[in-house]
Amino acid sequence: MAESVTIVGGGLAGLTLGIGLRQRGVPVTVWEAGRYPRHRVCGEFISGTGQRSLARLGLLDGIQKAGACVAQSVAFFAGETRVPARSLPEAAVCVSRFVLDRWLADEFERLGGILRVGARWSGEFGTGIVRASGRRVEPVARGWRLFGLKFHARDVKLDADLEMHFVPSGYVGLCRLAGGEVNICGLFRSEAAVPDLAQRWRHWLAGPPESTLHSRLAVANVDEKSFCSIAGLCLQPQRAIQRTECRIGDALTMIPPVTGNGMSMAFESAELALEPLAKFSRGDLTWARAQEEIAWGCDHRFTSRLRWAAWLQRALFLPSARGALLFLATRSAWVSRVLFDRTR
Ligand SMILES: Cc1cc2nc3c(=O)[nH]c(=O)nc-3n(C[C@H](O)[C@H](O)[C@H](O)COP(=O)(O)OP(=O)(O)OC[C@H]3O[C@@H](n4cnc5c(N)ncnc54)[C@H](O)[C@@H]3O)c2cc1C
Repeated sequence: MAESVTIVGGGLAGLTLGIGLRQRGVPVTVWEAGRYPRHRVCGEFISGTGQRSLARLGLLDGIQKAGACVAQSVAFFAGETRVPARSLPEAAVCVSRFVLDRWLADEFERLGGILRVGARWSGEFGTGIVRASGRRVEPVARGWRLFGLKFHARDVKLDADLEMHFVPSGYVGLCRLAGGEVNICGLFRSEAAVPDLAQRWRHWLAGPPESTLHSRLAVANVDEKSFCSIAGLCLQPQRAIQRTECRIGDALTMIPPVTGNGMSMAFESAELALEPLAKFSRGDLTWARAQEEIAWGCDHRFTSRLRWAAWLQRALFLPSARGALLFLATRSAWVSRVLFDRTR
């Protein structure tokens, strides 16, 4: 009889893995602490090879029909600097997590997967159990505290499908979604604790008073229910091979959001885990060996990307380095292509 697999976390990584395993006939249960549909702190901009993982799993068409749109252009704003709209090196797929996570959950159940919603796993992570429980949230005693905020709005005028606005304490992306909605999502850092995020999120996301971001959002028609936040983010790259548990997605490591590549890594790591887990289920591989193959696969695929992304994130937080980078990237197609390719 086939061994079953338990996946802890019904986000993008967990559900994609669950779907892929069901396609291979593996008995799977996903534990999800929350319920669907739900908003997540996310720029909702899928860029990179994860799109190809979704296509190989036969999911891309369904996601597009469920309510995705394509982003072709990007514009940058930093203080006085405005880089007009230009083509993205490769088109991205933009889809609300409210739509996407639910669509994947329905697809998983349609394929015969067992989905336990509102169920938080508190057991061990032993044989047959995969951790796909998302980003690690860590209390920060000192140093920079990273936090993310997101909401949706209508009536937001944009110069490009994606606008990146660099503000003194971080960056905010404005991304077109289907049906006239716009995702507004920012990553910020602060040396002091940030109380009252639930009350002060508009202040953080609005940007300085004279900025383009500020004027964009001043007239936005905000969907209050879509607001969500997350604090205590850790963007320190992690190696899978050093882990004692089988991990995929953000539970393994988180890439700086400015790359728009975290969702892609969730899909890619799920795809990388499929064959070793299917072999484990058939009895062709021990759990330890399956776990090792997944870890090697993830490290091989992600290590260089994470290093480049960490470097890019550091540079973007330094105004002088950011200015030089924007200057170079906008004047040299080669530089922007290299930065794009290396971080996804
Ligand atoms: C500010 C910000 C902006 C971002 N923008 C982008 C972007 O534009 N593009 C992009 O590609 N990526 C972006 N990301 C990253 C992206 O959101 C993540 O990489 C992606 O959600 C990871 O998917 P995941 O499945 O690993 O985790 P998640 O989607 O977080 O799913 C984890 C799930 O596990 C569940 N869970 C946790 N613990 C348990 C438990 N014990 N038992 C049961 N369930 C549990 C949670 O409820 C959750 O549903 C952004 C991130 C941030 C912070």
